[in-house]
Parts: sequence; structure tokens; C-alpha cells
Amino acid sequence: MNADKLDMERIRQAGRIIRDGGLVAFPTETVYGLGGDALNAAAAEQIYSAKGRPCDNPLIVHISRLEDLEQVAASIPQKALALAEKFWPGPLTMIFEKTEKVPGETTGGLDTVAVRMPSHPVALALISAAGGFVAAPSANTSGRPSPTTAAHVREDLEGRIPLILDGGPVHIGLESTIVDMSVTPPMILRPGYITRQMLEQTAGAVAVDPGLIREESAVRPKAPGMKYRHYAPKAQMTVVHGAREQMVKEICRLVAEAKSRGEKVGVLASEETKDRYPDGLIRSVGSRQEELTIARGLYGALREFDHLGVDVIYAESFVTEELGQAIMNRLKKAAGQRILEV
Ligand code: AMP
Ligand code: MG
Repeated sequence: MNADKLDMERIRQAGRIIRDGGLVAFPTETVYGLGGDALNAAAAEQIYSAKGRPCDNPLIVHISRLEDLEQVAASIPQKALALAEKFWPGPLTMIFEKTEKVPGETTGGLDTVAVRMPSHPVALALISAAGGFVAAPSANTSGRPSPTTAAHVREDLEGRIPLILDGGPVHIGLESTIVDMSVTPPMILRPGYITRQMLEQTAGAVAVDPGLIREESAVRPKAPGMKYRHYAPKAQMTVVHGAREQMVKEICRLVAEAKSRGEKVGVLASEETKDRYPDGLIRSVGSRQEELTIARGLYGALREFDHLGVDVIYAESFVTEELGQAIMNRLKKAAGQRILEV
């Protein structure tokens, strides 16, 4: 979508709602966001209550111009500027020491603030219309899969917010990469479309939060939101990990077993394997040849299983070179870390 196709009147209306302290859902290139004025403590509180989100889980502040960064970030390392030049607008969130201007309600009581400049034209236009600083978590009920279409937002938030801007299906489908720039070396707190290799080409060595690498361990992730069971469908999900043939075979066996117990079963498969399962409700998330289709399809497929009322889901695993890190991070969380190695 280009800027002249935007419904500017609706965006101005949305901007007014946010400036008056209200909330609006809007598209970004990652997932749909639920936006409120980031500098207004009461708006942040409203966001937590609309989502049912724990208030120790800080919000990302969205800006539309690089020059606005210094209003919310107290100290901006040179490396952060280089990363902003390279990846903004885009799916990268950076964490800085916060300024006085940012209320503790927005940052979940932390002295740091997470900032991102999204690339979606509707998001950029809305942020400007709203005064420049929009706090926006994903526009889902807390704990449910993030919304990748306006229909997903309506499912969760219809009647709870005055306006939902519809920008069609999103481009990426997974939340932004989060990098903590307040530590040396910078540290990835949440994997996303921008990979560690991409960051290191611009910023040198980048660490990964130990709480992310060993998710099943007792190490607490640094991003407060990463500790919650997140992105989750209602059914109990298990990820089956292994070589393709073994994986398919094991899922077929598990499906037959679950059916004999009288359970309704869903299978999260790929274009390449979806015809290999004789039984159960099979959904392809996307093609293994094109990782982005898997990222884009994941949350929608999990929501579809909710609609179908399945009791259990068996998911193939999607470990790959690039986006695979981010995809597996979300998949394992949705499964409450239930992984079966075959
Ligand atoms: P969401 O808004 O749903 O994409 O979630 C935002 C994520 O960013 C959550 O996991 C938060 O815990 C994390 N986050 C936001 N601000 C900070 C911060 N200042 N320090 C660490 N993590 C943060
Ligand atoms: Mg979220």
C-alpha cells in the first residue's frame, strides 16, 4: 500500500482518539498493534486493561522520525544510531535508558524504554497524527496468538476499543526483534525477522539473552514479556522435532492415538508435508522453501485451530537458518515448551 492510497481522514480521526487518551488498533509490518499515547500514563493503563496484560510487561514506544528518539531515550550509543540508519523503519526494537518524559506505566516500572520505528505506511501516518509517540503492544488478548489480520483484532477486542484501522494481512507475521542497547555488547532479548547475523554486520558482536537460549531452564528472560506462556492456542500443543520422515511418521502415530482417546486433533504442517497425514484436521502454515510464508501463516493457523475447537495440536518443527530462530521461539512458547525429539 502506498501513502496516497491511505484513508487519511480515518487516520487523522485515529490520531485524535489517541491524543485524547483513547486506544486504536492499527497494522504494522510485523503484527497488528494496540496503540495509545506513550507519554500518557492513563493511556498505558488502558492498554493493559484492554488486553488483560500483566502490568509488569512493558510496552514498545513507536516513533515515526529518528529525531524523536532523543525525546524518549536518555542516551543513544553510536551503535544504536548505526542500527537505526540500517534497519529503521523496520522490524527492530531497541532498548535504551529512558527519559523523564516516559511514564513508568509505559515501561512496566523499568528505567529503560523499548523503541521502534515501524515501516508500515498506515503505522507511520498514525504515529505522526497521534503526536509522535505511540505505545503499542500486539492487539490481541494477552496470551492469545498475535493478530496478523484486522479480523483477528476484532475477534479479541471488538467493543473494547473505538477504532480498528484495517491494512489487510501483515507482511512479516512475527513480532519485532528486540535488542537491548543499554548493555555492552548489545543483547537480543527476542528473536525476529532481523537476525543476529544481520545485526552483527552493522554493530559488531551481539549477545543473545541466556534466558532465550535455554528456555526450558530456570534462567529468567530479560524481556519481562518473554516469561509468559504466549502466542498460545487454546488446545494443548506439542512440537515434534526431527528429520522429516521420522517427524511425519511420529505425528501420524500420535494423531491415531489421540483419536482413539476420542480427542479432536489438529496437525500444523507445511505445504511440503500436508498431504502425508491421513487423519486429523491438517493446516499448512506455509512453504519450507519460503520462510516468510511460514512466519506469516503461523498465528493465523493457531487461531484457526481455536475456531475448529481442537483438543490437541501436533506441530512439525521449523528449524531453519534465518527466520527459523524466531519461528521456533514462538512455536515453542505456544506449545508451553512441549517438544518431542524423534
Ligand atoms: P509486545 O508489545 O506484545 O510485542 O511485547 C513487547 C515485548 O518487549 C515484551 O516481551 C516486553 O517484555 C519487551 N520489552 C518492552 N520494553 C522492554 C524493556 N524496557 N526492557 C526489556 N524488555 C522490554
Ligand atoms: Mg504481544
